[in-house]
Amino acid sequence: MRKIVFRSFMAKMVTACFLATALLLTAHVYPVWAETALHEGTPAKYTFFFIGDGMAMSQRTAAEMYMSSKEKGSKKVLLLMNQFPAQGMTTTHAANRFITGSAAAGTALACGIKTNINYISVDPDFKTVKTMAEMAKEKGMKVGIVSSVSIDHATPASFYAHQPTRKMYHEIGMDLAKSGFDYFAGGGLKDPTGKKSKKPLGDTLRVAKKNGYRIVENRRKFMALTKRSGKVIAFNKNLPDGKALPYHMDNTSEDITLAEFTKKGIELLDNSKGFFMMVEGGKIDWACHANDAVASIKDTLAFDEAIGVAYDFYEKHPDETLIVVTGDHECGGLTLGFAGTAYASHFDILKNQKVSFKVFTNKIMAEYKKAHAGKAQFEDMIPILKKYFGLEAAGKGQLALKDYELAELRRAFIQSMAEVKINKGTADYLLYGGYDPFTVKITHVLNRKAGLAWTSYSHTGVPVLTSAIGVGAETFNGYYDNTDVAKKLMAVMGALGEMKLAVNW
Ligand SMILES: [Zn+2]
Repeated sequence: MRKIVFRSFMAKMVTACFLATALLLTAHVYPVWAETALHEGTPAKYTFFFIGDGMAMSQRTAAEMYMSSKEKGSKKVLLLMNQFPAQGMTTTHAANRFITGSAAAGTALACGIKTNINYISVDPDFKTVKTMAEMAKEKGMKVGIVSSVSIDHATPASFYAHQPTRKMYHEIGMDLAKSGFDYFAGGGLKDPTGKKSKKPLGDTLRVAKKNGYRIVENRRKFMALTKRSGKVIAFNKNLPDGKALPYHMDNTSEDITLAEFTKKGIELLDNSKGFFMMVEGGKIDWACHANDAVASIKDTLAFDEAIGVAYDFYEKHPDETLIVVTGDHECGGLTLGFAGTAYASHFDILKNQKVSFKVFTNKIMAEYKKAHAGKAQFEDMIPILKKYFGLEAAGKGQLALKDYELAELRRAFIQSMAEVKINKGTADYLLYGGYDPFTVKITHVLNRKAGLAWTSYSHTGVPVLTSAIGVGAETFNGYYDNTDVAKKLMAVMGALGEMKLAVNW
């Protein structure tokens, strides 16, 4: 295959030798990127790194089309991240698998190295590799880590922890308590006392307090935090699933949004030596695993709102700030077109969905099941489908259910009520994944009517979009690997020397 090289003959020869050796040594089928554009000017004082988990081009465009469809006169609404002057495509594969996971991808984005699935900031030989957040801390900057899922989840953990697997939540929490970072915020901890650990290391929050952290668990106390509060760990009070924030569309006024966590982060971290802040939109991914386009779109919009808070800061310090936005991988194989709608799109009908798949399964259907034990019938679902999704059993509008859709929904409803176990490798797994059959079928039907479709309940291997504005932003144009995103960021942070030492680069 032809490769365009804009370099001297000598550089080409060196690269060719390097590539040949790398291919011989690793026998990888993956491309090896020898060189990528790096910032060479004055480092930035303030760096924001936004990671949309499971967010690739289709997730971004679905959110834009949803917003545009709500505007009268079909005015095109652009996400802020899509308006950034630098845009690049980023490949995401792990060291040992083409389709990556959040741990290997998080490690690539935090450290600039390829590692295996589930590894947290260690290389394939389990050697600890320094993260850009640790480098920032060593430089005297303040460091903040924010996520809408649990703060010990793979993506945030990749910035402060070093563990052989992402599943070691207790050990990851202990790494957090000992990190010395200044601000952790968003979701909670999954195993703070080591109940699931082979060798519990103590009470994570007690250790954190001993190490000077103030722990805040409600909105009022969170809003009252000031620069004088010292090091902070802040959790949203309501953590309905897996210690994560609710889906943005299910929020109440008590819930702290990702934008609010970001805003408070800036307030607490701003200081004369600068800061690094990573913000993850973690539930874009979870919604896509469940094939719920509306929950994914609304979390993408909440993520863009958080980017807006960083952008306000950038406007005040344009010569000292870099904002980078990327995704760690695509999820769900979401695409913007469906055989049943052919060339038509009806994004506007998505606004009829009132709750996420999670609330629908865990609350609405759970309550129905409890109240109708042994006498559940599909006809009861007709008003429920209308109320929560706008779907109609009769009529001719965009939301009217066709006979075959009603038949699909009826079958899924029966399977939900019977609580049939669905195993991987069966035809029913293709229909429903590991989720509640009726809920998945509803979101599939609504999404397809809008002209959206899914190919998977897992991640996919399509590249993601990386966007940047500010110091060194132009180096984020082009087509490059996720490990290069880290190198580019470290170059802007003035930390490339540390990385070269960390990975023998
Ligand atoms: Zn995922």
